[in-house]
Amino acid sequence: MQIHQGTVPSMVSGSKLGRFLACPSSELETIEDFYKFDSHGDAATIGSAAHEAIALALRDGTVDIESVCHQHGCNPEEIGPLCRYGLDAWSKISQYFREPRIEFEVRGVRTHGRADVLHADGTTLSIADWDFGYLGTDKRYQLLGYADAAYHMFGMPSSGRIDVFHIMCRHGNYSTLSYELSDLERFHEDLERAFRNCGKVYSPGPDTCRFCSRQLRCEPRQHYMAQCAMVLPQMQYELGFTDDALREAYPKWKALKGLVDTIDKIYSMRLEQGPLDLDGGKKYCYVEQERQQIDVEQAMPVLQSRLSDAEIAAAMSISKTSLLELVGQTTPKGFKAKAKQQVMAELREVGAVRTKIIKVKREQ
Ligand code: SF4
Repeated sequence: MQIHQGTVPSMVSGSKLGRFLACPSSELETIEDFYKFDSHGDAATIGSAAHEAIALALRDGTVDIESVCHQHGCNPEEIGPLCRYGLDAWSKISQYFREPRIEFEVRGVRTHGRADVLHADGTTLSIADWDFGYLGTDKRYQLLGYADAAYHMFGMPSSGRIDVFHIMCRHGNYSTLSYELSDLERFHEDLERAFRNCGKVYSPGPDTCRFCSRQLRCEPRQHYMAQCAMVLPQMQYELGFTDDALREAYPKWKALKGLVDTIDKIYSMRLEQGPLDLDGGKKYCYVEQERQQIDVEQAMPVLQSRLSDAEIAAAMSISKTSLLELVGQTTPKGFKAKAKQQVMAELREVGAVRTKIIKVKREQ
């Protein structure tokens, strides 16, 4: 089925390989590329900032996280711990990178990309890749793509394998993958099949389409979404809510939820500019709601006249984000990250940091 007219590319970037192998037509170059939309969200911004901070730390031996976050519009509270995990992992694996090439562009026959760190000396060939995502995203093909491109540039080392260290900073751990020639050969077969199917095969689904820039104008995806929208009401009325029904409907539910979330963001952006007139004289708009807060300084005499210090302490909590923001505001530039770490370390030492477990729904 040729749905879009276009040109099959000769190479694919490592970061797109997973999707390309699942849905080969996602990389077809078409005249409709004009309609491509930027599917990169907060996660990509966080990834760019954290990658840059770690690369600076490796190159210069130090990094000003505040300044990097300022440039990317990110929260240092989020990037700081990610970088700490990343650098902690680096201290364990740096022995395999005696001559580290940082942010090294690898370019093979069919794949290209930027390896976070690469070492090649003829005996060993090692690659390190920092991952800042929540899910232990299956980056198998991206890492294989880097290994393959590096193989084309440097050849197979005498160790007979290419080692790739995948550092999952949100989880605070890393895994090591080793690729031999036979792994690369199997990868080439999959890759060539995908190039042959590019423009002919589409595989819409919540994971394949999620970051695809073609999704706004993709007919197979539109058909898929229409099917999803039909299956869910059917599940409610005919299939019930058994585990089997929930499992079967899950990908469709996930695809629809992604679409609904995107549309909800579009409404939020529109409502920032003012109310939207609806049929029947109604409006869809932001309304203000009151949330009462207690000013601790003013409240203290009233509280102390009724409650013990222990009772007051039990009712009070200090937001970690607000506290660290305050520390940041009162500390000179260049010393902020360290001051925040120090405050947290001191608070931990006196047992003032409590961990609350919250439940979030997540696919693992
Ligand atoms: S939107 Fe989905 S189905 Fe369409 S090309 Fe992209 S990944 Fe494939």
